[in-house]
Amino acid sequence: LIQLAIPLNFIGSVYREIRQGLTDIEQMFDILEVDPEITDKPEAEDLQIRQGGIAFKDVHFAYDPSRPILKGVSFEVPAGKTVAIVGPTGAGKSTISRLLFRFYDVNQGAITIDGQDLRDVRQSSVRNVIGMVPQDTVLFNDTIAYNIRYGRPSATDEEVAAAAELAQVGNFIRQLPEGFDTQVGERGLKLSGGEKQRVAIARTILKAPPVLVLDEATSALDTHTEREIQAALDVVSKNRTTLVIAHRLSTVIGADEIIVLKNGQIAERGRHDDLIAQNGLYAQMWERQREATMAEEQLRKVRESD
Ligand code: ATP
Repeated sequence: LIQLAIPLNFIGSVYREIRQGLTDIEQMFDILEVDPEITDKPEAEDLQIRQGGIAFKDVHFAYDPSRPILKGVSFEVPAGKTVAIVGPTGAGKSTISRLLFRFYDVNQGAITIDGQDLRDVRQSSVRNVIGMVPQDTVLFNDTIAYNIRYGRPSATDEEVAAAAELAQVGNFIRQLPEGFDTQVGERGLKLSGGEKQRVAIARTILKAPPVLVLDEATSALDTHTEREIQAALDVVSKNRTTLVIAHRLSTVIGADEIIVLKNGQIAERGRHDDLIAQNGLYAQMWERQREATMAEEQLRKVRESD
C-alpha cells in the first residue's frame, strides 16, 4: 500500500502544480486580458481622469446578435458615489462590468468615464484606472506581503501593513507564525474565501484606483465574515466612484443608487428604503434573501451545537 501511496501522492502534487500553473496563467490573462476584437483607434489617447464619473447612455449589447443582453441601459455613477446593480441571475449584471473594462464594445449607445467615450481612449489606460475586487480571488503562490504589494509594487512594508489593517485582515495576518512572510496559495497556507477577499481588498487599497468595481461574492458567507468584508469594502469605496455588481444584496444598503436590472433593462431604481417602500422586484428579492440568510444561520447553529 505504501508503494502505491507514494506515486499517487506524487501524481497528486504534480496535478496541483499544473493546476496552480493554470490558475496563475488565468489570473495573468484576467489582468492583461485584451480581446483581439477590441482594438484601439490609431489616434486613441490615454483616458484622462478628472473626478472619475461613469455614465452608461442607452447601452445596448449582445454577445450573440440573436440574443440581446442589455437593451437600452442608462445610469450614472457620479464621481465619489456608489451605485449597485442588482437583479435576478442572468440579468446582465456582470456584463455591465465587462463593458466598463471594455472587454467588449457596446452595440449602440455609449459608456463614458469623465465624459470620454471608452471607444476613443486606449484600453490599457481604462484598465489602469479601474480597480477590481473580484468574486473569487486567486492568490499567487507567494507571501501574503507579495500578494498585497501586487497592488502597488513600490509600496513600503509599512504601507502594506496599513493596507492590511484597513482591509480588516491585519489581525489575522499578525497571528500567523510568519506574519506577512507566510506563504499562501495552493502550495502554502490556504485562506478562507473571506480572508482571500480581504487580501484582495488590501491590494486594491494600495492600488488606490480612481474607479472601483466590486463583484460581490455569489457564495454565502457567514454573518460575521460578511460584516468584516463589508467594513473593508466601506473603507476602499469611501469617496471613490464605485460600481457594485451585487449577486447578493448585502453590500447595497448604503449605495447612493440601486439599479434593479431585469432581462437587460432597468426595472426599478432608487435607494434601499425607497425600493423597499415600492414593494416591487427589489423588495421581493430582499425578502427572499432575508429568509435564506436566516435559514443558513439556523443551519449553522444546529451544526455548531452538534
Ligand atoms: P449572475 O448573477 O448569475 O452572475 P448576471 O446578471 O451577472 O448573472 P451576466 O453574467 O451578465 O449575468 O450574463 C447575462 C447573460 O449573458 C446570461 O444569459 C449569460 O448566459 C450570457 N453570457 C454571459 N457571458 C457570455 C459570453 N461570454 N458569451 C455568450 N453569452 C454570455
